[in-house]
Amino acid sequence: MTAQLIDGNALAASIRTDVARRAAALTARGHRPGLAVILVGEDPASQVYVRHKVKDCEESGLHSVLERQAASISEAALLARIEALNADPAIDGILVQLPLPPHIDAGKVIEAISPAKDVDGFSIVSAGALMIGRPGFRACTPYGCMKMLESIGCDPRGKHAVVIGRSNIVGKPMAMLLLQANATVTICHSATPDLAHHTRQADIVVAAVGKLSMLTADMVKPGAVVIDVGMNRDAQGKLCGDVDFAGVSAVAGHLTPVPGGVGPMTRAMLLVNTLEAAERRWRAVQEPGTP
Ligand code: NAP
Repeated sequence: MTAQLIDGNALAASIRTDVARRAAALTARGHRPGLAVILVGEDPASQVYVRHKVKDCEESGLHSVLERQAASISEAALLARIEALNADPAIDGILVQLPLPPHIDAGKVIEAISPAKDVDGFSIVSAGALMIGRPGFRACTPYGCMKMLESIGCDPRGKHAVVIGRSNIVGKPMAMLLLQANATVTICHSATPDLAHHTRQADIVVAAVGKLSMLTADMVKPGAVVIDVGMNRDAQGKLCGDVDFAGVSAVAGHLTPVPGGVGPMTRAMLLVNTLEAAERRWRAVQEPGTP
């Protein structure tokens, strides 16, 4: 079998087109959706990420503000900036690029973002809403993975999904989204003995570990859908996922490439969340009392 690739670039482009159309409609009614991105310090990878996020907004007709803060900013000053953005009517979504310098409590900063503007979906309110099946912002990476499954007509209902990784930003929300979609979900992590025993039974495998080529062909059931979230560098510095691409593509039914898979979808879902935040705020102003 040769796996069909799920093209994250193409799917993300079609999502951006839809975002641009809806953003233009809202702008025509008087409110241009807006995202504020706060970058603290000079971390080179973070600088690239925030540049992409701002560029994505511009290309989709969203208003964006990039706030650069020195690495020496105090926690109190950063919290004050978030308070100001919470109150800013031109801003619908707030994102604080992680990691933050060690003297700042990232948890406290995330919790300071108004739940109505938490477009990264990292806050306790957003995570809790997902846990109990209420509307709320979904973390962008797992949200994008669900869209990739949808794009190939893969309904998780009744399927066995194995998620490798249990971080708060990928593994756990991924497992909850799959559960909500009626999959039977197994979550594996670094203390899971015999990982392959679990992955071999999976109709859907999501690898979110951060270890180069850790998911090999012998660990995958023939025909399974494999979503590779990992971002690693190989010995030549090339961007690679957690999946042994050459081996697994001979066994899986569908596979996401790295690069060009989950990464562009994560960026696209940030735009979707920002647009949805703007639409909700607009509805709340126009039709007070409606959710
Ligand atoms: P993380 O916080 O480091 O979590 C990694 C998870 O993998 C942990 O739960 C860990 O288990 C588990 N793990 C480590 N070694 C394992 C092993 N040998 N077997 C099974 N599980 C193992 O990382 P993350 O933030 O979730 O990110 C995971 C990967 O996705 C990284 O490569 C990251 O760069 C990438 N990523 C990509 C995107 C994108 O847009 N493409 C977005 C976010 C993240 P324990 O909990 O037991 O330690």
